[in-house]
Amino acid sequence: MIVELADIISCENKEVSKQVEIELMSFNSRLGEFPIVKKAPFVLKFTNEENKRLFIRGEADVTIAIPCDRCLTDVDKEFHILIDKELDLTNQNEEKRMDETDYMVGTNLDVDKLIFGEILVSWPMKVLCKEDCKGICKRCGANLNVTECQCQKTEPDPRMAAIQDIFNKFKEV
Ligand SMILES: [Zn+2]
Ligand SMILES: [Zn+2]
Repeated sequence: MIVELADIISCENKEVSKQVEIELMSFNSRLGEFPIVKKAPFVLKFTNEENKRLFIRGEADVTIAIPCDRCLTDVDKEFHILIDKELDLTNQNEEKRMDETDYMVGTNLDVDKLIFGEILVSWPMKVLCKEDCKGICKRCGANLNVTECQCQKTEPDPRMAAIQDIFNKFKEV
């Protein structure tokens, strides 16, 4: 959603709250495409401080489905986003202002780009469906949380076991 801020930027000490919406349906980054499963309109508060600074503040909740790192089952990950931005209004050169932020184009605020950037910086290093997720079997692909596959029960080939031993020792060093 694009919000026109010209009236706030041009009016000294103006303070306005606006209800805004996230239009993004999914979060697309170089990590992949992740569906946004929950979002809601939220309030952004804009404050023009003495025509010097523009503050943009608000809170938003977004839930994104991210696959578990071990078993690939989708996990609903909640992001509580705290927005606290400060833009320099003394810089009248709009092109330069655009350089600093990708969510402001002239006097237009792109809410989706703002939210995208906030999600990106708080993206979790690791996502697990549960702490003790057993993952998937590397041989047959079975989800070991739901089923027990036969692979584990098979006696390992003694030659493979010897190689495994070497690997394990290597890891310990
Ligand atoms: Zn899992
Ligand atoms: Zn298996």
